[in-house]
Amino acid sequence: MSDDDGRPAQPVLAVVGRPNVGKSTLVNRILGRREAVVQDVPGVTRDRVAYDALWNGRRFTLLDTGGWVPDAKGMQAAISAQAETAMRTADAILLVVDGQVGSTTVDEAAARTLRRSDRPVLLAATKVDDERGMGEIPALWRLGLGEPYPVSGLHGRGSGDLLDAVLDVLPESPRDDVDLEGGPRRVALVGKPNVGKSSLLNQLTGEDRAVVDSTAGTTTDPVDSFVEIDGETWQLVDTAGLRRKVNQASGMEYYASLRTKAAIEAAEVTVLLLDASEPIAEQDLRVATQVAEAGRALVLAMNKWDLVDEDRRYAMKRELERALVRFPWVERVNISARTGRAVQKLAPAMRTALDNWDRRVPTGQLNQWLADVVAATPPPVRGGKQPKILYATQAQNRPPTFVLFTSGFLEAGYRRFLERKLRETFPLTGTPVQINVRVRE
Ligand code: GDP
Ligand code: GDP
Repeated sequence: MSDDDGRPAQPVLAVVGRPNVGKSTLVNRILGRREAVVQDVPGVTRDRVAYDALWNGRRFTLLDTGGWVPDAKGMQAAISAQAETAMRTADAILLVVDGQVGSTTVDEAAARTLRRSDRPVLLAATKVDDERGMGEIPALWRLGLGEPYPVSGLHGRGSGDLLDAVLDVLPESPRDDVDLEGGPRRVALVGKPNVGKSSLLNQLTGEDRAVVDSTAGTTTDPVDSFVEIDGETWQLVDTAGLRRKVNQASGMEYYASLRTKAAIEAAEVTVLLLDASEPIAEQDLRVATQVAEAGRALVLAMNKWDLVDEDRRYAMKRELERALVRFPWVERVNISARTGRAVQKLAPAMRTALDNWDRRVPTGQLNQWLADVVAATPPPVRGGKQPKILYATQAQNRPPTFVLFTSGFLEAGYRRFLERKLRETFPLTGTPVQINVRVRE
């Protein structure tokens, strides 16, 4: 039962929860202790195992997102990351909590993330082996995920009701916008030495926030951290260097730039930190160019805003105008990592940049736009001929990539004009776009 790209054409239920709450036992119960068929689903990484499940004649894929063992301190961030993964990959989500223990702060963190889900979420409380085990159940309504289903994975009690409820909310066919990579969105935090990268990281993670540095043996690169910002879990790539403060003296420069490049490529969005109290440097612009060339979303964060006075503000305005001719599309925020000023604007800016990076412009709208623009300003005549633009389509997103079919060569100036017009019509701030031209003979 596979569609063209090998993905099973059946809906996916993801099972999320802390270690030891009884997920595996429940999964085995749902699978009816049949020999579990482990599915080979492309894009599903080693921390997730997909099984083929069957209930009342309906098939679905059971995605067990366990397999990680974070330390106690990182548990909250780890489970939020897991929930985030489920929200991007599954058609419905089952949060499993320990019915004997009741809800914990870690369960609450998972529930908080899942309440944002546009997919149905069900709540199961395991280890309720008999009526006496029901004591903690009413309090679980507080998680805000609707009715808690008490079950015993061990004995099967309640599992039929739970599965009926699952099938009620599970769509017949899988979503078509599944993000096979899934997981939290990946962010690179880059900038010259001393612009405030580690200060910002500290400000974002704070004392009370959960951070987990993934370690060898878990699912991601050992140098990433998961951080909750504005209610969403983000994966900050290569933060080990920021925490450990490697030697940043000269000579490390080359190493640092390679590292920056790798971080940008591993991320989906880059937050480029600048010191607003100092002139914008050539090096800053080189990094912005790297981000654009790598085809990643970009947020420019002007840090140390607390040091910016009237004079500096004026000078910076002009510097920015000059510097950003090539990146007029960046998302920009003014922050102070030291005081915490406006740091909360960062997450919305990253989301906007990523939404636009993901954007797909429908072909109809694109060609309507094209007809209007070309009618008002046709391409310049070359060699006595006026090239015609026949048709446009968006070939790809991440970043948005458009293809124009034409009857002749389009000058670079006109292409830049088209990009500007495109950005005026469709929301594309924070993302580079690419416009390719195919000349039809
Ligand atoms: P996971 O880490 O969430 O997959 O949890 P497991 O399924 O491995 O279960 C953790 C522990 O809880 C094991 O010792 C199980 O035997 C126990 N357990 C799981 N489900 C139940 C249940 O329904 N009733 C009881 N009494 N114990 C259970
Ligand atoms: P990194 O090298 O990019 O990680 O920069 P750090 O976070 O170590 O910061 C370098 C210096 O700038 C430290 O002395 C920080 O206290 C200071 N700093 C960082 N952010 C701000 C800010 O928003 N305002 C001010 N005034 N100083 C800051």
